[in-house]
Amino acid sequence: MKQNKIWLSSPHMGGNEQTYINEAFKENWIAPLGPNVTSFEKDLENYLQENVKVAALSSGTAALHLALIMLGVEREDEVICQSLTFAASANPIAYLGATPVFVDSEEETLNICPKALEDAIEDRIKKGKKPKAIIGVHLYGMPYKVNEVHAVAKKYDIPVIEDSAEALGSSYNGQKCGTFGDLAILSFNGNKIITTSGGGALVTKDIEKKDQAIFLATQARDDAPHYQHSQIGYNYRLSNISAGIGRGQMEVLDVHVKARRQMNDFYKGVFKDEEGVKVFSEPTDNYFSNHWLTVIQIDKLKNGLKREDLRLHLQEKNIESRPLWKPMHLQPVFKNAPYYGSEIASSAFKNSLCLPSGSNLLEQDKKRISEAINDFLN
Ligand SMILES: *Cc1c(COP(=O)(O)O)cnc(C)c1O
Repeated sequence: MKQNKIWLSSPHMGGNEQTYINEAFKENWIAPLGPNVTSFEKDLENYLQENVKVAALSSGTAALHLALIMLGVEREDEVICQSLTFAASANPIAYLGATPVFVDSEEETLNICPKALEDAIEDRIKKGKKPKAIIGVHLYGMPYKVNEVHAVAKKYDIPVIEDSAEALGSSYNGQKCGTFGDLAILSFNGNKIITTSGGGALVTKDIEKKDQAIFLATQARDDAPHYQHSQIGYNYRLSNISAGIGRGQMEVLDVHVKARRQMNDFYKGVFKDEEGVKVFSEPTDNYFSNHWLTVIQIDKLKNGLKREDLRLHLQEKNIESRPLWKPMHLQPVFKNAPYYGSEIASSAFKNSLCLPSGSNLLEQDKKRISEAINDFLN
């Protein structure tokens, strides 16, 4: 008999989600507005601290799209983006007819390399265009080098959009990810650390920016009794039903973070005798990762096998694992975009693997995973 599939990361309900949805039904708040949306935003603001304001939206991608619009990105502009990321970080640049300029990662966090970032900025300025924004990503929950990256951004006076889609619950020097950028985005897609089935948020530093985001997300309707528009608008608001799921999920966010961090420790144990495998963890105590997904880097295994062999072995046991995001500068759709850096992102793509990291994995799942890995290693 085939055993149940062990997923990389699957939705994990806390219990109260249904209560908030029922409330919405009882009050007939089925419209894309309502008390769950307002409360979910409050929950996120309280969680993130630093006096940020949060606009709940239909997806993280929508939040990035609005962030770029709010920073004035237009056709022919250039926007710097970490190359090693999910395509959703870069696609909204293309929606606006702007050009993404991709930058390599550094080895410690696998996120945007401050040195390559500065090279890119210098060179783009020399070529005649100063980039309009920088998109840094806390990949797999690991904070990027916030101090170094933001110091470069400040030096050239370029705003930072912090893609914190994978990093709700992570922090850097005790400050929550999602509060560092001029604007930041979150995602509540099905496989993220908390989910609203589909959803996202834009995090802003003040209420004016939040209001601007909501205005754009609700068709940019001017203040008039009839429907009047002086700007192009979008239909990007989160629904009151989805926000009900979000409220329930916020109650268990810290429990999810703890469970995902335990999965990272679990893998350190599984691979402790295999010198050819590095389990990615925080480089110093300044970093705190939610370990949304645990990443291992495979250098040289004693048995001579490769990353792809492990992935196929796990697949045979009905255990999902996945290579890292394929860097954007290697994607056919972005083949003409400029790229700065060397081979850090591309070699991580070649040698590394994301392992099942869900907060809902059971002891018996962990047992199956460690047996499958041991079986492979020996
Ligand atoms: C999931 C994700 C997004 C997009 O979020 P959606 O809610 O799926 O649109 C953006 N950036 C990164 C790094 C992501 O992982």
